[in-house]
Amino acid sequence: MEFIGWTYDIAREQSPREEVLRETLRRSLEAGYNAIGFYLEHRFAYASAPWAAGQGCLEPETVKSLTAEFNPQGLRIIPFLNTLGHMEGFIRSEGGRRLAEGPAEGSLQICPSREECIKFARGLVTDAMDAFDDEWVHLGGDETTQLGQCPVCAGRAEKIGKAGIYSEFFGPLCEWVLQKGRRPCLWGDMLIEHPEALEAMPKETVIFDWHYAHGPRASAQTFREKGFDVVCCPAVHTYDSAWCFLDLTRRNVDEHLQAANDVGALGVCVTTWELSFFTNYPSVLPVIYSAGRRLAKGDDWNEALVEEGGDAYARAADILGNRIPARSEFLRAGTWRQLRDRFVIRQDPFHLWRAWSEEACGEAGDEILRLCDEAEQDLDERHPLRFAIDLHRVAVQWVRHVEEARNRYAARDGVGCCKALAAGAEGIHRLGDPLLQAWEEGGSRADPLRLVRLLQHIAEVTRRVSDLSREMPEAGHLPAFETLTSPPFVPYDQAAWRTGRDT
Ligand SMILES: [Zn+2]
Repeated sequence: MEFIGWTYDIAREQSPREEVLRETLRRSLEAGYNAIGFYLEHRFAYASAPWAAGQGCLEPETVKSLTAEFNPQGLRIIPFLNTLGHMEGFIRSEGGRRLAEGPAEGSLQICPSREECIKFARGLVTDAMDAFDDEWVHLGGDETTQLGQCPVCAGRAEKIGKAGIYSEFFGPLCEWVLQKGRRPCLWGDMLIEHPEALEAMPKETVIFDWHYAHGPRASAQTFREKGFDVVCCPAVHTYDSAWCFLDLTRRNVDEHLQAANDVGALGVCVTTWELSFFTNYPSVLPVIYSAGRRLAKGDDWNEALVEEGGDAYARAADILGNRIPARSEFLRAGTWRQLRDRFVIRQDPFHLWRAWSEEACGEAGDEILRLCDEAEQDLDERHPLRFAIDLHRVAVQWVRHVEEARNRYAARDGVGCCKALAAGAEGIHRLGDPLLQAWEEGGSRADPLRLVRLLQHIAEVTRRVSDLSREMPEAGHLPAFETLTSPPFVPYDQAAWRTGRDT
């Protein structure tokens, strides 16, 4: 296979320093990869958009220095931008709201009809081409769900359809990249949804056909028949899990490898996404490298993982990635990162108790705690996988503490309720050090602050209980515990009709 690559999602709050990237590239090359894509969005210091360059974003000089070092060794470094959808990091920056398609609030897309947006996208691509010297420039183009939204675009959609709007944005952009001597690449999903748009794309465009729930055979075959080069793209299933769905990842990679061979694709690009919101790259890199071995050398999955991460890591990865998800309906492979969503992403850890108390307080919870102990054996004290283990453990314990707090509250024992909440908060607090460690190793700077928000909310709920306990009656009205713990709770708003509950 000509192309064996993976994408590093720098866009999702990562701040990798040059030495972190250098080590990652070295290991990638060793594993058998011959390309790495830096997925950038707003996390690159674009000269044309200095207002978007947040602290710790990737610098052009870093790219140049790594390219000079790794290109001669056979590793390509490819820029993966986005130029229409997934532009929220720009739109939600001071200076970027003007670019939004439709109302800026909630918009993820820039407007493909406005000249200033077209110029803006080309500015980003120009800056990337100045720093990266690979032949390929990935222009993104995925998940542009807002096509036809603003009044101008709506008018155009009536005449030429959403496919027409997409074509008239990306067709000329791809042509322009070709004129600059580079080869444009696009994600395949919108071309599957709007096959007419394919007609507008120059045949040199490389289509990255991604499917994370199944293989890419049908669409990859169609793209090939239309005369396009294709790269098949599975995912490492971290973004949708508490840590990583391991067997799901392996199956997804194998399906893409098989399809790529069958349809004559250029190769496979293993995508990795997010690795923030209480996950991190160091804990999952051996899985990514093991996929490289699988693709490049046909290695056995387990042997490849032992080779890349060691015995203790491979055992712990199997527990976290297979055995725990098999033990809990809530954490089952194929669900959508429910633990992190309810615990962290919604910024109200009581969500986790509402969604998971039955399992976490029962036998499944006991088994998860036991599996966490087993997973930890022989792992170094500061091993990055320990955070994923601790996240599971703390989550179960937190739900149990909240259950205790609720029971105390129902029994009108305000002090007992506050003590149970404090014990739960103490467990969550323990996640702080490893979150800081993950940031120092190139991860999310926002995650430690998310933890602070969780603790602040628990402190606020504790205060509410404490206020109530002063006048807690032997009988008579108390807000339901579920109402009391929801962030917008307002005392004396008994019905929580408009202001006192989550919508
Ligand atoms: Zn528009």
